[in-house]
Amino acid sequence: MSLRDKAEGRGQRAEEKEIGKNKHLSTTIEELNPKNDNIMSKNIIQIADEIIKPGSRKRLELPVARLPTQTMLSLPVIAINGIESGPKLWLSAAIHGDEVNGVEIIRQVLEKVDAKQLRGTLIAVPIVNVFGFIEQSRYLPDRRDLNRSFPGSSGGSLAGRLARLFIKEIVSKSTHGIDLHTGAVHRINLPQIRANLNDDETYSLASTFGTSVIIHSSTRDGSLRQAATAIGKPVLLYEAGEALRFDRDAIEFGVKGVLRVMAKLNMYPGPFNETENLPIEIRQTKWMRSPRSGILRLHVGLGDRVEKKQQLGIISDAFGDTNIKIKASINGIVIGHVQNPLVNQGDAIVHLAAI
Ligand SMILES: [Zn+2]
Repeated sequence: MSLRDKAEGRGQRAEEKEIGKNKHLSTTIEELNPKNDNIMSKNIIQIADEIIKPGSRKRLELPVARLPTQTMLSLPVIAINGIESGPKLWLSAAIHGDEVNGVEIIRQVLEKVDAKQLRGTLIAVPIVNVFGFIEQSRYLPDRRDLNRSFPGSSGGSLAGRLARLFIKEIVSKSTHGIDLHTGAVHRINLPQIRANLNDDETYSLASTFGTSVIIHSSTRDGSLRQAATAIGKPVLLYEAGEALRFDRDAIEFGVKGVLRVMAKLNMYPGPFNETENLPIEIRQTKWMRSPRSGILRLHVGLGDRVEKKQQLGIISDAFGDTNIKIKASINGIVIGHVQNPLVNQGDAIVHLAAI
């Protein structure tokens, strides 16, 4: 029996169970009070005023705020509700509006997931910072960083209000989350998971994702991850690639990683239950900075292992004179580096994970 057949078999059995349940369910749906939290236990999800029934997929638009032109901007959401109840996983991307790899990762995951085979619920928000996304900017129009604005407040800044909406309608309805990021503009990251590895469940999901490195990171003030962790939701942060670029490997890795985590949570059948290689666990990372301004020629790439004092690159002037060597200050793996060869004194050039 193929995995798909098995899944369909499981779906059918679930459907049969559901028919039995439905006699009871049909009345509860009619009587449903949208404000009633009990609906969560009956595998009916409610986001804003919309109800997503078992075995269905729904696209929603949650109003955020108007532009000065009076055009309403809304948060696009797709929720897929499985027939059987189970974990409720949110996927978010473009919290930094110029980080587009995650948008494509979510599109590909949604293409693969069928409500009839899903156990639990998938809530996908591919463009969280809708304002930054249309401006191709990391920030909101007032230059605030959305990922420093959580948990937010309904009477706060635009960033705070958007953060509050996301916590209220997405995070609070979920049991787990995956937040998709890339390097900042002109910087590229090796596919990596950042998470609280001191938490057993988070550790288990992080090591299932399939990246070669997983990095323990304490949460930053105001981040989505901190706000969600504070209300008991395990969160993985996937970092891969570069802002404003589609990186084929980073996207493919991300899609497989999300499906692996879903399989691990027993939400979806898939060939990704276990990873062959255990990831390297990192507890400390360090940026190597430029000792002076100039033109950088890098000698290392993503994933390279380097030794302390190894030469990572050279900074010189336009003629190749006044060469300054950049050296590693620790033994490590290159998990990120600058892409723009024009560097100023003090710029972060190579990001090393200590091993
Ligand atoms: Zn980011």
